[in-house]
Amino acid sequence: MRGEFPEFRLGSVLATSFTGTLSERRGDAIERIPVPRRLVDWLVVSGFAIDECSGEQLQLALELREAIHATATAAATGDPLPDAAVGVINDFSARGRAVAVLTADDKREWRLSPAASVEDALGVIAADAIAIIAGERDGRLALCASPTCRAAFFDTSRSRTRRWCEMNTCGNREKKARFQANRRTGQ
Ligand SMILES: [Zn+2]
Repeated sequence: MRGEFPEFRLGSVLATSFTGTLSERRGDAIERIPVPRRLVDWLVVSGFAIDECSGEQLQLALELREAIHATATAAATGDPLPDAAVGVINDFSARGRAVAVLTADDKREWRLSPAASVEDALGVIAADAIAIIAGERDGRLALCASPTCRAAFFDTSRSRTRRWCEMNTCGNREKKARFQANRRTGQ
Protein backbone atom coordinates (compact mmCIF):
# COMPACT_ATOMS: atom_id res chain seq x y z
CA MET A 1 0.00 0.00 0.00
CA ARG A 2 2.68 2.42 1.06
CA GLY A 3 4.64 1.90 -2.14
CA GLU A 4 2.12 3.85 -4.18
CA PHE A 5 3.33 7.13 -2.68
CA PRO A 6 6.76 8.76 -2.82
CA GLU A 7 8.93 8.07 0.22
CA PHE A 8 9.57 10.85 2.72
CA ARG A 9 12.79 12.77 2.99
CA LEU A 10 13.34 13.30 6.65
CA GLY A 11 15.89 15.76 7.89
CA SER A 12 16.74 16.50 11.48
CA VAL A 13 14.92 19.84 11.43
CA LEU A 14 11.16 19.60 11.70
CA ALA A 15 10.16 22.73 9.76
CA THR A 16 12.39 22.06 6.77
CA SER A 17 11.55 18.36 6.77
CA PHE A 18 7.99 19.54 6.45
CA THR A 19 8.67 21.87 3.52
CA GLY A 20 10.61 18.95 1.99
CA THR A 21 7.35 17.03 1.60
CA LEU A 22 7.13 18.90 -1.70
CA SER A 23 10.40 18.54 -3.53
CA GLU A 24 11.85 19.32 -6.93
CA ARG A 25 9.83 22.52 -6.74
CA ARG A 26 11.67 23.97 -9.76
CA GLY A 27 11.46 20.78 -11.78
CA ASP A 28 8.93 17.96 -11.85
CA ALA A 29 7.54 18.56 -8.38
CA ILE A 30 7.11 15.53 -6.15
CA GLU A 31 4.23 15.78 -3.68
CA ARG A 32 4.95 13.43 -0.80
CA ILE A 33 1.74 14.11 1.12
CA PRO A 34 -0.89 13.95 -1.63
CA VAL A 35 -3.63 12.47 0.55
CA PRO A 36 -4.63 12.93 4.22
CA ARG A 37 -3.36 9.47 5.17
CA ARG A 38 0.14 10.37 3.97
CA LEU A 39 0.12 13.47 6.13
CA VAL A 40 -0.78 11.26 9.08
CA ASP A 41 2.12 8.94 8.15
CA TRP A 42 4.49 11.90 7.97
CA LEU A 43 3.34 13.28 11.31
CA VAL A 44 3.78 9.90 12.97
CA VAL A 45 7.33 9.39 11.68
CA SER A 46 8.06 12.95 12.76
CA GLY A 47 7.07 12.16 16.31
CA PHE A 48 3.43 13.24 16.50
CA ALA A 49 0.86 10.77 17.72
CA ILE A 50 -1.87 11.77 15.29
CA ASP A 51 -4.16 9.21 13.77
CA GLU A 52 -6.78 11.18 11.91
CA CYS A 53 -6.72 13.79 9.20
CA SER A 54 -9.45 15.22 7.01
CA GLY A 55 -9.09 16.64 3.53
CA GLU A 56 -9.61 20.08 5.02
CA GLN A 57 -6.80 19.55 7.51
CA LEU A 58 -4.51 18.44 4.71
CA GLN A 59 -5.28 21.73 2.93
CA LEU A 60 -4.37 23.62 6.12
CA ALA A 61 -1.11 21.71 6.30
CA LEU A 62 -0.26 22.58 2.71
CA GLU A 63 -1.06 26.25 3.39
CA LEU A 64 1.34 26.26 6.34
CA ARG A 65 3.97 24.36 4.38
CA GLU A 66 4.00 26.85 1.54
CA ALA A 67 4.05 29.78 3.98
CA ILE A 68 7.11 28.30 5.69
CA HIS A 69 8.74 27.62 2.34
CA ALA A 70 8.19 31.21 1.16
CA THR A 71 9.38 32.73 4.43
CA ALA A 72 12.40 30.46 4.83
CA THR A 73 13.41 31.12 1.22
CA ALA A 74 13.24 34.88 1.79
CA ALA A 75 15.24 34.53 5.01
CA ALA A 76 17.86 32.40 3.27
CA THR A 77 18.32 34.90 0.47
CA GLY A 78 18.20 37.97 2.71
CA ASP A 79 14.97 39.27 1.19
CA PRO A 80 12.21 40.92 3.23
CA LEU A 81 9.93 38.30 4.74
CA PRO A 82 6.59 38.02 2.92
CA ASP A 83 3.88 39.52 5.16
CA ALA A 84 1.07 37.18 4.21
CA ALA A 85 3.19 34.07 4.74
CA VAL A 86 4.45 35.34 8.09
CA GLY A 87 0.81 35.92 9.07
CA VAL A 88 -0.05 32.33 8.18
CA ILE A 89 2.84 30.95 10.25
CA ASN A 90 1.85 33.09 13.23
CA ASP A 91 -1.80 32.05 12.98
CA PHE A 92 -0.86 28.38 12.99
CA SER A 93 1.51 28.86 15.87
CA ALA A 94 -1.24 30.55 17.88
CA ARG A 95 -3.80 27.88 17.05
CA GLY A 96 -1.84 24.80 18.09
CA ARG A 97 -1.97 23.42 21.60
CA ALA A 98 1.24 21.79 22.72
CA VAL A 99 3.46 22.07 25.74
CA ALA A 100 7.23 22.22 25.87
CA VAL A 101 8.77 19.50 28.02
CA LEU A 102 12.36 18.92 29.04
CA THR A 103 13.75 15.46 28.38
CA ALA A 104 16.28 13.66 30.62
CA ASP A 105 19.02 14.36 28.06
CA ASP A 106 18.34 18.11 28.23
CA LYS A 107 16.42 18.46 25.00
CA ARG A 108 13.22 20.38 24.50
CA GLU A 109 10.37 18.35 23.16
CA TRP A 110 6.80 19.22 22.40
CA ARG A 111 4.09 17.16 23.96
CA LEU A 112 0.59 17.05 22.51
CA SER A 113 -2.45 16.05 24.49
CA PRO A 114 -3.81 12.55 23.83
CA ALA A 115 -6.71 14.18 21.98
CA ALA A 116 -4.40 16.25 19.79
CA SER A 117 -5.44 17.19 16.29
CA VAL A 118 -3.53 17.88 13.10
CA GLU A 119 -3.80 21.60 13.94
CA ASP A 120 -1.89 21.04 17.19
CA ALA A 121 0.93 19.34 15.32
CA LEU A 122 0.95 22.13 12.73
CA GLY A 123 1.28 24.62 15.59
CA VAL A 124 4.48 22.89 16.68
CA ILE A 125 5.81 22.93 13.12
CA ALA A 126 4.99 26.65 12.85
CA ALA A 127 6.81 27.31 16.13
CA ASP A 128 9.81 25.37 14.84
CA ALA A 129 9.83 27.48 11.67
CA ILE A 130 9.72 30.65 13.78
CA ALA A 131 12.69 29.51 15.85
CA ILE A 132 14.77 28.78 12.76
CA ILE A 133 13.85 31.88 10.80
CA ALA A 134 14.32 34.08 13.88
CA GLY A 135 17.84 32.69 14.20
CA GLU A 136 17.26 31.19 17.62
CA ARG A 137 18.84 27.92 16.66
CA ASP A 138 22.47 27.30 15.91
CA GLY A 139 22.68 26.97 12.15
CA ARG A 140 22.17 28.74 8.86
CA LEU A 141 19.16 28.75 6.55
CA ALA A 142 20.24 28.09 3.00
CA LEU A 143 18.81 27.01 -0.34
CA CYS A 144 19.77 23.76 -2.02
CA ALA A 145 22.24 24.30 -4.87
CA SER A 146 20.33 21.96 -7.17
CA PRO A 147 18.60 24.18 -9.77
CA THR A 148 15.51 21.96 -9.87
CA CYS A 149 15.25 21.75 -6.09
CA ARG A 150 16.17 25.02 -4.34
CA ALA A 151 14.67 23.66 -1.13
CA ALA A 152 15.29 25.66 2.01
CA PHE A 153 17.34 23.66 4.49
CA PHE A 154 18.96 24.35 7.82
CA ASP A 155 22.70 23.91 7.78
CA THR A 156 24.06 22.82 11.14
CA SER A 157 27.45 21.72 9.81
CA ARG A 158 30.41 23.20 11.66
CA SER A 159 31.67 25.05 8.59
CA ARG A 160 28.18 26.17 7.51
CA THR A 161 29.07 25.29 3.92
CA ARG A 162 26.52 22.60 3.16
CA ARG A 163 25.23 23.02 -0.40
CA TRP A 164 22.50 20.41 -0.75
CA CYS A 165 19.25 19.86 1.06
CA GLU A 166 20.27 16.20 1.12
CA MET A 167 23.51 14.58 0.09
CA ASN A 168 21.81 11.29 -0.78
CA THR A 169 19.57 12.82 -3.41
CA CYS A 170 20.45 16.30 -4.66
CA GLY A 171 24.13 16.07 -3.79
CA ASN A 172 24.68 12.72 -5.45
CA ARG A 173 22.71 13.64 -8.53
CA GLU A 174 24.85 16.74 -8.98
CA LYS A 175 28.06 14.77 -8.45
CA LYS A 176 26.96 12.20 -10.99
CA ALA A 177 26.07 14.89 -13.53
CA ARG A 178 29.47 16.49 -13.07
CA PHE A 179 31.21 13.15 -13.42
CA GLN A 180 29.39 12.41 -16.66
CA ALA A 181 30.12 15.90 -18.01
CA ASN A 182 33.80 15.43 -17.23
CA ARG A 183 33.83 12.07 -18.96
CA ARG A 184 32.26 13.59 -22.04
CA THR A 185 34.74 16.42 -22.26
CA GLY A 186 37.57 13.97 -21.57
CA GLN A 187 36.77 11.89 -24.65
ZN1 LIG B 1 17.84 19.70 -2.85
